[in-house]
Amino acid sequence: MADDLSRVSLRAERKALQKAKILQRESDRNIVRLVRSALKKPETERTEAEAAVLLLHRETVDELCKRQVRTDELKRKQEEVFDDAEELKSKVRELAVAVKQASHLVVYTGAGISTAASIPDYRGPNGVWTQLQKGRRVCSSDLSKAEPTLTHMCIRMLHKEKLVKHVVSQNCDGLHLRSGLPRQALSELHGNMFIEVCTSCAPIREYVRLFDVTERTSLHRHGTGRTCSICGGELRDTIVHFGERGTLEKPLNWKGAAEAAGMADVILCLGSSLKVLRKYACLWSMNRPASKRPKLYIVNLQWTPKDDLAVLKIHGRCDDVMSLLMEELNLQIPAYDRAKDPIFSLATPLQPEEEDSSTREVIAPLHQQDCSSVSGQQSPIVHGGWFGRGYGKGRKKKKAS
Ligand SMILES: [Zn+2]
Repeated sequence: MADDLSRVSLRAERKALQKAKILQRESDRNIVRLVRSALKKPETERTEAEAAVLLLHRETVDELCKRQVRTDELKRKQEEVFDDAEELKSKVRELAVAVKQASHLVVYTGAGISTAASIPDYRGPNGVWTQLQKGRRVCSSDLSKAEPTLTHMCIRMLHKEKLVKHVVSQNCDGLHLRSGLPRQALSELHGNMFIEVCTSCAPIREYVRLFDVTERTSLHRHGTGRTCSICGGELRDTIVHFGERGTLEKPLNWKGAAEAAGMADVILCLGSSLKVLRKYACLWSMNRPASKRPKLYIVNLQWTPKDDLAVLKIHGRCDDVMSLLMEELNLQIPAYDRAKDPIFSLATPLQPEEEDSSTREVIAPLHQQDCSSVSGQQSPIVHGGWFGRGYGKGRKKKKAS
C-alpha cells in the first residue's frame, strides 16, 4: 500500500518536472521571439516594453547578434561580385604587367573556367556542390560534349608563348588536354574523365578514351569494367572522388605540380573557390617567409580563403578577364578546332569485345557526325561517375561516424 503511494507520488513528481521543463522551454522560445522582433526595429521605433525586454535579456541579445554576424559573413562569402568595366580593365592591365615580368608563372584552375563550356561549377550559386548540399539532384547534358573555352585556349597560347610554365587543375573534364596544352605542362590533380589506367603494369599504363570512362565508378570504386590489353589487369578511372585523396602519380602529375609551385614567382588562380586547393600545402610555399612566397593573383567572382594573401583579386568571369589580358599582351586567342583536338591521336580504340562496355557518348572529330547521332534524342541525365555520385556516399559516411 505504502509502495503504491510512493510510486504514484514519484510519477506525479516526474510529470510535474516534465511540465516545468516544457514551460521553461516555451518561455525561452518566447523571449527569443520577443528579442528578435525588438531587434528588427530601429532603436528609435522601439516601444518602451521592447526596450525593457532587450535590457532584461542581454545574453539573448548578444547570442542573436553573434548569430546574425555569422549568417551575414557566410552570405557575403557566397555572393558573386563583379568589378565594373573600368576597374576590370585597370586590374587586368596590372595582371598583364605581372605576367610579362614573371619568370615562372604557374596557373591554377577550377570549375569556373569551364562554366562557359556548360559544365556546372562546384560552389557557385548553381554549382554541383551547392545543389547537392541543398539536397537537389544534379542533372546535366552529357559532359563530353563540352569543348575547351576561351580561357582554356588563352592558357594554351600563353604556354606556347612561354609566359605560363605549368597548369595545375582541379577539373576532371579533360578540357586543358583537349585545348592542346602539352601533357608535361599539366597536372590534373583530381583526374581526367577520359583516362583509365592499369596500375598492374609498371610504369602505370594509360588508356585515353573518347568517352567518359567513369560511368560505373564512384567513391572508392574505381574499376571501369574494362581490362588492360597487355596484362589483363582491371582498368580504373583516375578520378579523385569527393572524400578521397589522390594517390596516382600518373597521370595526375603531382610531382609536376609540386615542382612548378616550388619554382613559381607568380601564381594565377582562375575560377577556383580554392577551398580544396588550399589544403594542398605544397602548392602555396607556406613554409617560406611571406616575402619569399610567389605573388598571388586571383580571378574569381566569389570570396576565396586566399583573398587576403593575394596582391590582386579580380572579380570577373574568366573568359572576360582572359580576353582582356590577351588584348593587353597583344596576343591572338586561338580558336578551338575539334579536328585538331589532341585527344583523337592520344586515344586507344576499344577492343571489338569491349564495344558494349560504355553507353556514354563518344566524341567524334567532326561536328556533323555527333549532331546526326543525337538528333531527336534527349541527352541523358548524368548520375555520376566523376560528377557528384561519390558525394552522397561521402556525406552518409561522414554523418555515420
Ligand atoms: Zn596492365
